[in-house]
Amino acid sequence: MLLLRSHHLLLPHAARILARRAPPLPRTAAAAARLRPLRMSASNHSGAGASSTSAPSPPPAPAVPKSRIPFCPACGSPTKLAVPDGDEKMRAVCSSCGRVHYENPKMVVGCLVEHDNKVLLCRRKIEPAYGLWTLPAGYLEVGESAAEGASRETLEEACADVEIVSPFAQLDIPLIGQSYIIFRARMKTPCFSPGSESLECALFALDDIPFDSLAFSSIIVTLRMYIEDVKAGNIKFHYCTINKRIGAGPSDLRSFDIDNHLAV
Ligand SMILES: [Zn+2]
Repeated sequence: MLLLRSHHLLLPHAARILARRAPPLPRTAAAAARLRPLRMSASNHSGAGASSTSAPSPPPAPAVPKSRIPFCPACGSPTKLAVPDGDEKMRAVCSSCGRVHYENPKMVVGCLVEHDNKVLLCRRKIEPAYGLWTLPAGYLEVGESAAEGASRETLEEACADVEIVSPFAQLDIPLIGQSYIIFRARMKTPCFSPGSESLECALFALDDIPFDSLAFSSIIVTLRMYIEDVKAGNIKFHYCTINKRIGAGPSDLRSFDIDNHLAV
């Protein structure tokens, strides 16, 4: 079993439960509202004997929701946030043509390239996580399959021409609206070199993977699952949810927990 679970990561669950009771806000505004510290007046600190005549603290200013789709993709007019009829969530609604624009999670696809009992990693030449190691992966493009996108990203980032072996993991990250699909792959010819988005590429034995300088929680989880499977002699397909702690850095090893782990 993975050892990623830790007790202090129950906090995001509590935050989500509390958030369900509040009117829906865009994700960024909701996160800001949850992060706002509780304010206590001086009289509150004095406990049960506090004077009831102390002036109450002014209520915190309500978070002002902002659309992450500020302009209508159809007509270019500004959008406003509103709950459309029959919906439950705030959406970006065009102030001119009235179209409703939905914000949906993005799909990230990548390859776990196996070669001589090693895996291929790329050191990022771009932000975020400049200088840290990752599997070749990136956003899926419209018009390509997940497998095609994973192969393309591997060619772009590691100049490696690969064939897909099997799906290895799907990892959902609800807080940031991303879902990863990682494929096992092999190089058609054992050639690779850094692409324009990589500082360097290298094959790592599983015991030498630089866990202290990996770029993203999704990559950490993927590689831990893979190492566990290889050492058990049984490589599976994994599904799980990565719950990131609000405000934590993407590579903070303590910034996430995994839930709903299924392995078949
Ligand atoms: Zn419009």
